[in-house]
Amino acid sequence: MFYLLWGDTVKLYKVIVIILILGSLLLQGNIISQPREIPVLNYHMVEDNVDNQLAVTVKDFDDQMSYLYRNGYKSITPDELLSYLKNGDDIPEKSVLITFDDGYRDTYLNAYPILEKYRFTATVFLITDVVGNDDWYLDWDQVKKMHQAGFVIGSHTLSHVPLTTLSRDEALLELQKSKEKIEGELGTTASYFAYPTGAYNDEVLDLVKKVGYKAAFSVQFGKSGQNSNIYELERIPIFRSTWAFYDFYLRLHFTSLVEKARWIKKEIMGETLVQAN
Ligand SMILES: [Zn+2]
Repeated sequence: MFYLLWGDTVKLYKVIVIILILGSLLLQGNIISQPREIPVLNYHMVEDNVDNQLAVTVKDFDDQMSYLYRNGYKSITPDELLSYLKNGDDIPEKSVLITFDDGYRDTYLNAYPILEKYRFTATVFLITDVVGNDDWYLDWDQVKKMHQAGFVIGSHTLSHVPLTTLSRDEALLELQKSKEKIEGELGTTASYFAYPTGAYNDEVLDLVKKVGYKAAFSVQFGKSGQNSNIYELERIPIFRSTWAFYDFYLRLHFTSLVEKARWIKKEIMGETLVQAN
């Protein structure tokens, strides 16, 4: 009985995925004529020696950036994204915003040379308490070099504690002090924020605005468009996987389809989704 039910569930899942693929292909014409949504890629580590889904291999990262370069993508800054989302200002037709959370040292050692090779810049969200204090993470010299090369440095709090687990005062401190630390080190305004573990609620959103961040990035799966809330911007997480390039390609070009497939997998198959941190 169990096997029968399980077999049926798998079949149903496959049928739904096929319907979604066909539906999405049929809708392509309409999708193109709608206002553009911008892919904001979300990476963590680019590191061969860590066996973790958050650690994309160096070769896979190079393949992905090479694809973007060869296909005419231009990396944009959060300022450019925001002016497009809020005012409809011009941005390159194939825009991509590349983000890194946590500020691991491999962002500088492994990802940065590849990004430079393809003339891309990225936005790096730092956990400021660990910068220069932990071998796994960036130090301020590395951060400054990337900043001088046009990278945008944002905050990912002081300590990476999910803000929803803190009191209002503690959350305020995390948001404010990390912003001030970046501004003191770099002599520039830190205007952007990414929620540790993606956790936020209305109170946290209110604090992020109050502290003076211009926008904030979530781990809601999707592209950012003119209907997005600028304090809950969607991103596309990129993980290590066996079929890394195929996975990257699908996530970039069939974002909403992948999102639906992920949801079905979770609801029907009962699988836990890998969540970006
Ligand atoms: Zn994080």
